[in-house]
Amino acid sequence: MKEHYCKYCGKETTGVDYDYLIGSDHLACVISSMPELRDWANGNTKKTKHVEISNWDKLVGNKFDVMGASFIIRDAEDTGDIYTAWVHAADDNEPFVRVILFSDDMHMQVKVLPPIEYDSNMTPYDLSSTITKNHISNPSIFIQTIGEALLSDPATRDILSYISRKQDNVRFKGRGYTQLTGTNGSSGNNLW
Ligand SMILES: [Zn+2]
Repeated sequence: MKEHYCKYCGKETTGVDYDYLIGSDHLACVISSMPELRDWANGNTKKTKHVEISNWDKLVGNKFDVMGASFIIRDAEDTGDIYTAWVHAADDNEPFVRVILFSDDMHMQVKVLPPIEYDSNMTPYDLSSTITKNHISNPSIFIQTIGEALLSDPATRDILSYISRKQDNVRFKGRGYTQLTGTNGSSGNNLW
C-alpha cells in the first residue's frame, strides 16, 4: 500500500479516515492554510452581525437625569468592535459609569464606580445586559438604556439618590438653584 503524506504538515496520512482528508492532506491543514475558509469554518459571521455605530461620538456632551441626579457623557471612544462611553455625575471629574458595548454580540456592560465619599470600601461592579439595535438607534434612546440599567439595580439606586442629594446641596447653597453648565446643544434632556 502506497504511503500518503499531508503536504501541509508533512505527517503521514495513510491510515487516516477519509472524512478528515482532502486527497492525502489533512482537512484541518487545508482549512487553516486558507484564511477565508478558516473564518467560514469558525462560523465567523462578523461581517453580517457586526453593528457599526457611526455616531458614537455624538454621545459626548449629552446630559440626562436619573432619579434626580444629573449626569453628562464626557468621553466616547470606539475600536470598531468595542464602544466605550464615560458618564460623569454633573460637575464631577471622576467618572461614575463606564459603558462598554460589544458590537459583535450587542452585549452591554455598565461598570459602576461608586463615589469614594459614598462608600470608600465599595469596589466597582458590573451590570450587564444584552441590547438590540433599537437601543442604539439614537443617543436619547441609548442614554435611556443606560438609565434603565442603573435603575434596575437596588444598590445603584441607592448611589443615585446619594448623588442626587449631594447635587441638591450644591444647587441650594448660596444663591439658590444653580443652572448646570452645558457644553453645547443637547442640554436639558430629561428622559425620566
Ligand atoms: Zn496535515
